[in-house]
Amino acid sequence: RAKVAGSTRPEVFDEATQRRSHETLQIETGLRWALERDELIVQYQPIVSLDSGKIAGLESLVRWNHPELGIVPPDDFIPLAEETGLIVPLGWQVLSKSCKQMKEWRSTLPPGGLIDLSVNLSSKQFMQPDVVAQIHGALKDADLDPTCLRLEMTESALMENAEVVFPLLTELQSLDVRLYVDDFGTGYSSLSYLHKLPIDTLKIDRSFVIDLGVREEALEIVRTIVTLAHNLRMHVVAEGVETQEQATILRGLGCEFAQGFYFSEPVDGSAIADLLRNDIKFF
Ligand code: C2E
Ligand code: MG
Ligand code: MG
Repeated sequence: RAKVAGSTRPEVFDEATQRRSHETLQIETGLRWALERDELIVQYQPIVSLDSGKIAGLESLVRWNHPELGIVPPDDFIPLAEETGLIVPLGWQVLSKSCKQMKEWRSTLPPGGLIDLSVNLSSKQFMQPDVVAQIHGALKDADLDPTCLRLEMTESALMENAEVVFPLLTELQSLDVRLYVDDFGTGYSSLSYLHKLPIDTLKIDRSFVIDLGVREEALEIVRTIVTLAHNLRMHVVAEGVETQEQATILRGLGCEFAQGFYFSEPVDGSAIADLLRNDIKFF
């Protein structure tokens, strides 16, 4: 741990350290089983149009339905899954489940309100030689139209691997799958990459949205991101919208889409079906 901290900082091995490493091991072993025993579940959070108030898309968010611990949030196991490489099979499982769920909604609900599906993709998945085949396979297995699929990659994952992912993204684009940049504003984007990569949408990180109406700088940062995106012909989604005030400010800034607890928390597929069936308007 001292090495990971990257400094000369000492670390004391105590009971807490031992407990932590024990927990890590427990999660790692458990996670391998979870994949086999189908313990991962997917919830969906609406992405709302700030113009119409209707659902424009959904983001898939994985949870682990642990036999003893109950529902475990992704922040408690995704970092470890990344570290161990388990994120690769996990990520494909989430993609496959999400595509099948999307197909089910599309075939059982009235047409019209066509919505998009966003799935998070780890850079480890992107580095697999069969990445395009996996994505193509998931769409084909579910018999799902590729134009409704968006893949979310964090800004840092994208920029760190820009040279490698560039040809890949072009290939994905030829599949008609679109790319979202997740947590935008928290990494270090190279502006020259940003306009070269086939990016459809920037998702403004929650840390900026939280300060809207509180700190003047947050407003200016969000305004700048919205302008940047629009000038590059990209769309914008604001993440983590929790209040009406934030939603109103975002609409005033010309931000087209928003996602957050103010509208809905991530919920199960059946709850989404109800929202879609009732053609719900959030404002
Ligand atoms: P993310 O992709 O940026 O997802 C948005 C996160 O913000 C979700 O957390 C969501 O529940 C949370 N959120 C949404 N609205 C609000 C709000 O108004 N307030 C607050 N405080 N939070 C809000 P969640 O589900 O815990 O996921 C955390 C992260 O775990 C995700 O961040 C994503 O990076 C990762 N993750 C989740 N599912 C997957 C997956 O299937 N694959 C990969 N590679 N990563 C995933
Ligand atoms: Mg995301
Ligand atoms: Mg995000």
